[in-house]
Amino acid sequence: MKHLYLHVPFCQRRCSYCDFSIAVRKHIPAPEYVDAVLRELTLLGTTDPGREPGDLGGETLETLYLGGGTPSLLPPDAISALLTSLLDVFRATSSRDALEVTLEANPEDVTPESAQAWRRAGINRVSLGAQSFDNRVLQWMHRSHDATRIGDAVRTLRAAGFDNISLDLIFALPTELERDWARDLDLACALLPAHLSLYGLTVEERTPLARWISRGATSAPNDERYADEYLRAHTRLASSGYHFYEVSNACRDGFRSRHNSAYWSGRAYLGLGPAAHSFDGRARRWNLAAWETYRRALAAGLSAVDAEEVLSEEQRELERLYLALRTDAGMPLAALCRPLPPAAARWVERRWAEIRDQRLVCTPEGWLRLDALVGDLTNPGRAV
Ligand code: SF4
Repeated sequence: MKHLYLHVPFCQRRCSYCDFSIAVRKHIPAPEYVDAVLRELTLLGTTDPGREPGDLGGETLETLYLGGGTPSLLPPDAISALLTSLLDVFRATSSRDALEVTLEANPEDVTPESAQAWRRAGINRVSLGAQSFDNRVLQWMHRSHDATRIGDAVRTLRAAGFDNISLDLIFALPTELERDWARDLDLACALLPAHLSLYGLTVEERTPLARWISRGATSAPNDERYADEYLRAHTRLASSGYHFYEVSNACRDGFRSRHNSAYWSGRAYLGLGPAAHSFDGRARRWNLAAWETYRRALAAGLSAVDAEEVLSEEQRELERLYLALRTDAGMPLAALCRPLPPAAARWVERRWAEIRDQRLVCTPEGWLRLDALVGDLTNPGRAV
């Protein structure tokens, strides 16, 4: 297995827009979590035919991603214990830095001590949940950091030896917040992160945000604002040397997320932890989502897998198309019908896509319409 994801479900509070599978805890049950993940790993090696601990498929691990939830809430010694055990089981590349090891972190968890301990444990990439540099906005989101903590965290990480730092920002917030997106982009660029991930606010059911909207306390995100801020980000980031290599992700040269790129190119990956997904190129399976259910199953020696879905050839084809068009690699023309399907020709004419090196690649305007465009290509009777 070349790509491994570890889901750490704990958060200290729930952000106003978040519907992820998390466990809100004041005290993080780190020993129980480490024990459960290691049990899952042992079970995989002993129950999954064709897999043996120490040689998971005979491939060399290339990326390891600790996502959540908030992985930075785990004490550094628990992170170190996990990484040591995982790297004992999975054969890692010989050079430490050839293995990309990402930790998602909240800015308030970054201290000189934690940053140095993460580095010693083998983490070499940190993805910081910055979201905004406006304290009013951060409070509205129920984030637990303030704006000054973001810059402090970046400087502390650099001092500890991290040069691969990513910042997450959220755009398309409700109008009444009067969020200054241009200012947030300027402040983010001024910190010179290697990578930026930009996500438009979406309203998920059963979140505080959905409740605020349903009772009229806040306005729903608006498409015009979404498009305006998305395109503005492309222009602003390009002027600071960033390149969008995926619909929501931009980086400086040499700093693409190798782990996420593996997802987007349809490669196999293994997920451990509650709610983690795995994909073997044919079937997708996912773990029990609730932390306590996951922990109890493993404590009883049972599998953590909740369900599995085998993708049909048609589903795989659609997924390949969608994933390819999300990235700047685009879709090889050879994989599309010849001559160019009328739908694709129409995108090019409208400048929603371009032909580059015999590939169909979305422009920023095309990425804004990605779902509709994929529908257009797979259902030629329909026009966008
Ligand atoms: S920190 Fe992340 S995972 Fe946790 S509640 Fe906020 S958005 Fe959700």
